[in-house]
Amino acid sequence: MAAPIIELRDVSKKYDAGRPALDHLDLEVEQGEALAVLGPSGSGKSTLLNLVAGLDRPSDGSVTVAGLRLDGMSEAASARYRRDRIGMVFQFFNLLDDLTVDDNVLLPARLAGMPRDEARDRAARLLERLGLQPHHARAYPGQLSGGQRQRVAVARALVNRPALLLADEPTGALDTASAAEVIALLAELNGDGQTLVLVTHDVALANACATRTIELVDGGIHRDVRGAAVVR
Ligand code: ADP
Repeated sequence: MAAPIIELRDVSKKYDAGRPALDHLDLEVEQGEALAVLGPSGSGKSTLLNLVAGLDRPSDGSVTVAGLRLDGMSEAASARYRRDRIGMVFQFFNLLDDLTVDDNVLLPARLAGMPRDEARDRAARLLERLGLQPHHARAYPGQLSGGQRQRVAVARALVNRPALLLADEPTGALDTASAAEVIALLAELNGDGQTLVLVTHDVALANACATRTIELVDGGIHRDVRGAAVVR
């Protein structure tokens, strides 16, 4: 069997002298899974996502993603890792408002060294696939609805063909109809084989997308089940 795409071994994260944010956590995620991460506020969800994204380092234990050891990696190497291996989608989109939609999507590809024409082509095809019209591509993010902006953010996250798409409350700032569009999109991407990690409180999102659900409590995995298995 292929190696897991995410492998955390005995990971602890302490920010200060108090209770650790993650406490001796072990987790393996296989390629193609859509993992929903649930848990009360303060249970360690963001900390887990930040470690997998290479944005932070564990205090103890090892973090391996797509064959790369992230703990102990230099800042420059983890920036490259984020650029080349993962895509991130945030609650509030984090698009650059002074750039057109097109430029927002192709920027990470250009930063990764993709030639301009190829990057333009890839951005255009992604935007079309995600249901955005050519006139949307020439617009600025502020001219789009929340659902459209989140689809642009998903396109940007996918432009470098990441091994892993990480999403932090991707429907948290959307109305029900826009959320439904984004949920359908994430489910479709996973159906096409994209590995997803979703930190969410959104029951509809977990129900539609998750092939597996873990629930964190006090920095440990309290539940780990197949499917959505949302109790709230
Ligand atoms: P969640 O995303 O589930 O709300 P977090 O991972 O943000 O949980 O937080 C887990 C614990 O770590 C909480 O007790 C929180 O206060 C603490 N924590 C998170 N980030 C920091 C930080 N930068 N400095 C100090 N403590 C932090």
